[in-house]
Amino acid sequence: MDSEMLNRHYSLLPETYLFSRIAQKIAAYRERHPEREVIRLGIGDVTRPLVPAVIEAMHRAVDEMATADTFRGYGPEQGYDFLREAIAAGEYAARNIDISPEEIFVSDGSKCDVANIQELFSPDCRVAIPDPVYPVYLDSNVMAGRAGEPLADGRYSRVRYMACGADNGFQPEPPPPDTRLIYLCSPNNPTGTVLTRATLEKLVAYAQEIHAVILFDAAYADYIRDDALIHSIYEIPGAKKCAVEFHSFSKSAGFTGVRCAFTVIPREMETLRRMWLRRQTTKFNGVSYIVQRAAAAVYSPEGRRQTRAVIRSYMDNAATIRSGLQQCGHTVFGGEHAPYIWWQLPSGIKSFDFFDRLLDKCAVVGTPGSGFGPGGEGFFRLTAFGDPGRTREALRRIAAMTE
Ligand code: PLP
Repeated sequence: MDSEMLNRHYSLLPETYLFSRIAQKIAAYRERHPEREVIRLGIGDVTRPLVPAVIEAMHRAVDEMATADTFRGYGPEQGYDFLREAIAAGEYAARNIDISPEEIFVSDGSKCDVANIQELFSPDCRVAIPDPVYPVYLDSNVMAGRAGEPLADGRYSRVRYMACGADNGFQPEPPPPDTRLIYLCSPNNPTGTVLTRATLEKLVAYAQEIHAVILFDAAYADYIRDDALIHSIYEIPGAKKCAVEFHSFSKSAGFTGVRCAFTVIPREMETLRRMWLRRQTTKFNGVSYIVQRAAAAVYSPEGRRQTRAVIRSYMDNAATIRSGLQQCGHTVFGGEHAPYIWWQLPSGIKSFDFFDRLLDKCAVVGTPGSGFGPGGEGFFRLTAFGDPGRTREALRRIAAMTE
C-alpha cells in the first residue's frame, strides 16, 4: 500500500508500549514466582457485578424483545426518550440544573464521545489538555492532525499542556487566549483529584472571554463524597454557553462491559448541538434497547441505592490505600472523591523503575504515572477497583517494604 494514501498523523501517535511492557513484566514475574499471588492495583476496570435493579431491567427488556408486539429494532440515534428523560431528571433536575432531553445524546461510551467530539472543530483549533490526563483527549487530536509534531520531551508542538501537580493543588491555569478547545476531567483520571468551584468558575469565565469550548469529562462524578463539590459543569453560571459535558455509566454503575454513556450539548450552543446530532445520525445507530433500559434503571430509587453502595465499597478501598500509604510516610493525592490514588514517589525515582520495584518486592502492580503524560512522571497510580481483602494485603506488603 502506498503510504501517501494513509493518514500520516497516525504515525505521530505515541507508542502504546507502556501497557504492553507492563503486561510482559507481569507475565515474566509470574513465571519466576509461580507461588506468589500478584495483586493488581493498576486496573481501571470495575470488578463488582451489575446491581439487581439493573439486571432486572435488562431481563424485562430481553423478554420484550421476544414478542412481536414489544420487539424493538433500530432506536433513535440520540437515545430513547425514557432514558433521556431519566437522565434529565435524575442527573440534572435533581441538582436544580435545567437540561432538557433534547440536549442529551445517549451513546455506547464516553471514550468514543470524547474522542469523536473534536471532529466538529476545525483542524487549526488549538487544544489544551491537563497534564497528566486520560490519554484519549490527546491521541484523538493527534489522529486528526491538530497536535503538531512530537517533541523530544514527549509533548506535541501545537498542544497546550495545563500542568496539574502538587504545586498548584492540581488546579490548572487558563491556557493561552488563542486556545479553542479546553479538555477538563474532574474527578480526574489519573490523579484522583477534583477541580474546585473557584477553578471552574475561572475557566468558564475565561472560555467565554476567549470564545473557547470546554469539554468536561465527568466520568467519575458519582464518586464525589462532598455535595459542595461540583458534579456537573452546568452548576457553574455561564457554562451552558461554552461547555459540553460527558458522563458514563461505566464507573458509576459498572457498565464497562455493557456500554452506555451520554453527552450533553446545551441549546445555548445550538450550532454545535445540531452538528453533533447530524454526526450521530450519520455515523451512529444508537445503543441497544436492552442496555438503555438497564441505564434507566440506575435512576430508580433501588438502582440509586444499590449503585451507591457499590461505589461506597470501592471508596472504602480508596481509603485503605490512602491511609495505608500515608501511615508509611508516603505522600498521596486523590482517592477522596475518585477511585484513583496518585502516589508521589520520592524525588528522582522514575515511575517505570518504581513499577519494577513494587512488582519485585511486593508482587503489587500499579500504573506508572508517565503513561498519562510527561506531567505524570514521578507519580504512580493505584486504583480502588480491586477486591477489599487483596487491597488490604497489598498495603500490608507495601508497609513491609517501607519498614
Ligand atoms: N473518561 C475517563 C476520564 C475515563 O477514565 C474513562 C475510562 O476509563 C472513560 C472516559 C471511558 O468511559 P467509557 O467506558 O464510557 O467509554
